[in-house]
Amino acid sequence: LMRLYGPLTSLSNVHVDVMTALVSFDRVFEVLDLKPMVAERPGAAAVPDGPVSVEFADVAFRYPAAGEVSLASLEAVARPDTGPGQEVLNDVSFTVRPGEMVALVGPSGAGKTTITSLATRLYDTTGGGVSLNGLDVRDATLASLRETIGVVTQEAHLFHDTIGANLRYARPSATDEEIWEALRAAQIATMVESLPEGLETVVGDRGYRLSGGEKQRLAIARLLLKAPRVVVLDEATAHLDSESEAAVQRALKSALTGRTSLVIAHRLSTIREADQILVVAGGRIAERGRHEELLAADGVYAELYRTQFAHQPPFETVMPESRAG
Ligand code: ADP
Ligand code: MG
Repeated sequence: LMRLYGPLTSLSNVHVDVMTALVSFDRVFEVLDLKPMVAERPGAAAVPDGPVSVEFADVAFRYPAAGEVSLASLEAVARPDTGPGQEVLNDVSFTVRPGEMVALVGPSGAGKTTITSLATRLYDTTGGGVSLNGLDVRDATLASLRETIGVVTQEAHLFHDTIGANLRYARPSATDEEIWEALRAAQIATMVESLPEGLETVVGDRGYRLSGGEKQRLAIARLLLKAPRVVVLDEATAHLDSESEAAVQRALKSALTGRTSLVIAHRLSTIREADQILVVAGGRIAERGRHEELLAADGVYAELYRTQFAHQPPFETVMPESRAG
């Protein structure tokens, strides 16, 4: 375990989002078949069928205190800015209705990633509760939670294995045709086809080197194969070149269509399309509403907009031909 933990420590030194790293870590746990930090209750049930609503009711949260044996406490020690035991979220209440996209925006350190990690029950809340279709996530089986929610983070996590195997990890029974379909929807089929070994190409640190945008699109293809009912997305900041960026945007569009989604949004184009924007500041929801409403309110969102989003060109002007996809 400590050996696995090593790289995370060095990542946190360069301001990589710690929670992003932890989400990948959760996947490592899945693969190694180890238990995450939360436990399944006896008599736990599956998340009720059908399109999913996500509800946060009066949620409060503080990261586990040092001394509790968990990765979270190790991370807390590595972070100087929050002492363990300090509340990171307070009074967080909101509902994402089935099929809606809710965007989380707010300054760095506000609590956005923490909110998404409570939705996937990476941690348990310290106050209030989170429910999916009315079922408290603490009463849901861990298997059904993992099946219901798909997560795409900024750091796409691929295993040192073939492209095919990386995708089948999401759905072991997938046929080649289903895999190609997912690759096409994720805007990466042409690139995979051009590789001499196609789906059999080994990727990862010691394999074929993929660009950031290619990795993300493969992660999106994997999400499409998994076909979760809820998507949690930590939208990439601008480190992709504009061609990759456009392709990733198109891929995400197909991944989000018809699904309930919670998106940590950095792009104005995403934010404008959101059914609801939650402005997170200091661990609370400072404002909520749609883009125009929040601009008119001239508060925290309007300020964020002026400082962060207003200068972004609308996506269409970057890649006019992209709407075809
Ligand atoms: P955002 O995603 O909005 O940038 P985060 O949810 O990552 O914010 O962080 C909210 C607060 O929680 C910050 O003060 C951050 O330092 C703290 N924090 C984040 N992850 C951990 C962790 N694993 N352990 C302890 N504190 C954390
Ligand atoms: Mg974050």
